[in-house]
Amino acid sequence: MTTSPSHIDRHRLIEDLRWKKFPVLDDGFVALVDCMGDDAAVVQAARVSYGEGTHKVSDDRQLIRYLMRHSHTTPFEMAELKFVVRVPMDCWRQWVRHRTANINEYSTRYSLAIDSMQGTHDDQWRSQAATNRQGSGEFLTKAAGHKLTQSEMELQSLARRIYEERLEAGIAREQARKDLPLSTYTEAYWKIDLHNLLHFLALRMDPHAQLEIRRYAETIAREIVAPLFPLCWEAFLDYRVEGMRLTKLDQGVIQRLAARPGALLPATSHDFLSAQDPSWSGLERCRERDECWQKLMVLGLVE
Ligand SMILES: Cc1cc2nc3c(=O)[nH]c(=O)nc-3n(C[C@H](O)[C@H](O)[C@H](O)COP(=O)(O)OP(=O)(O)OC[C@H]3O[C@@H](n4cnc5c(N)ncnc54)[C@H](O)[C@@H]3O)c2cc1C
Repeated sequence: MTTSPSHIDRHRLIEDLRWKKFPVLDDGFVALVDCMGDDAAVVQAARVSYGEGTHKVSDDRQLIRYLMRHSHTTPFEMAELKFVVRVPMDCWRQWVRHRTANINEYSTRYSLAIDSMQGTHDDQWRSQAATNRQGSGEFLTKAAGHKLTQSEMELQSLARRIYEERLEAGIAREQARKDLPLSTYTEAYWKIDLHNLLHFLALRMDPHAQLEIRRYAETIAREIVAPLFPLCWEAFLDYRVEGMRLTKLDQGVIQRLAARPGALLPATSHDFLSAQDPSWSGLERCRERDECWQKLMVLGLVE
């Protein structure tokens, strides 16, 4: 069973983590600057009417798990984390859509743009996904990616050279930067409470999120949130990341599969189609039906 570190261990942990740069992508990083609160702060807020009292760690764990299961979210807002991050602009553009954080970003009006752009190795180019219009498919071979990496390097150095030529010609930094590519790294302070950070992580660690931002989310999760908030993290994994939501329609499919005379599991695709929701039948393509099939696969109910 997961337990929370003692006060002294935790203090040491925070001091070890503070300002430690965890590398992400080829030149990015995330580092913890400050952390307010811990698992106990979440528990304390939830027990506001009773006081801390003599509750045991196992009670704290049960309470956190209850809060997470039932979306009692405000106690998780009592903890806050501040990071400094270095991220390519295209990834940052997705990151800043999370409005529940406080941000202060490096200014390229005031300072020179960071002289670093995210590069793509020969074996890192991804094809367009065939089934998901937003996602990536297979990796290209190294040989196929080599040419793309070469042209990326040419483009990035040309863009940087033109930027610097404009600055040398006395052009304002705010205008000179306009043609820098989205692969240019930016840096920012990013402060967010634990509830909204977990929301960010749930969305951005998900396989549907772009791989680059996923790498950042995974690093924040693994290196910082999991060790600092072990009980909250455990509950978050159990109930959000690795939990499964069965819709009313999904439940109907399972009930019909189970009600088949002599029902044998796993059911075949033919059985599944016979048990599908009536609103799906007749549709050649149905994303909701595909999602239901995936859930039943995970549960071992279909083959
Ligand atoms: C896989 C993926 C694909 C995406 N694709 C696109 C896309 O194609 N185009 C696009 O534009 N975006 C896209 N997004 C961004 C997405 O729509 C959200 O803007 C982003 O994930 C932030 O989520 P959020 O609003 O829940 O988070 P936050 O901004 O942190 O907000 C957290 C919660 O607070 C509440 N909240 C915050 N601000 C407000 C407000 N002003 N009004 C009401 N409620 C508020 C909401 O309940 C919200 O869920 C994508 C995101 C993901 C993960």
